[in-house]
Amino acid sequence: MSIDVSLALKNEGVQYPFSEKLELGVIECMYGNFETEGATAVSGTLVAMEGEIYLEGEIEVALVRLCDRCADEYKRSYHLEFKETFTGKKDGDESENYTFADGQVDLVQMVEDYVVLQVPTASLCSEDCKGLCPVCGVNLNRASCNCGANDQSGPFGMLAGLMDRD
Ligand SMILES: [Zn+2]
Ligand SMILES: [Zn+2]
Repeated sequence: MSIDVSLALKNEGVQYPFSEKLELGVIECMYGNFETEGATAVSGTLVAMEGEIYLEGEIEVALVRLCDRCADEYKRSYHLEFKETFTGKKDGDESENYTFADGQVDLVQMVEDYVVLQVPTASLCSEDCKGLCPVCGVNLNRASCNCGANDQSGPFGMLAGLMDRD
């Protein structure tokens, strides 16, 4: 879960590649939880400069989500890019920065923050999800119903209205 940066700290300015797989499970967030599926891959390069660690790379995360429109569960992968500085942890440090200690950088907090902040909160199983029928509740992606047949307000209702005039 954490990467050893002691070598990088000894050799400032030298870039080191890294690649990690994190088992994040459910990421809790005040706007709703994110359920990750399988391991979340984090990779990139790191370099030490003046005792700080700069990390740059990408996150591949698969999420199990619920569609806002039809409530169906679906899976989707997201590709996120990051660039962050980790500073050495000091006692009583109140800064907003990510920190590292004992030559180890823990990526979990940063990766969770990126998922929460960068994955769009709007969730649709597909761009053209038809949603649920507001009358009978059937999932219109999988079945059809006749509830809208006499509805004059929808596009089909308006067409029917035009034809009635003849
Ligand atoms: Zn949907
Ligand atoms: Zn219906």
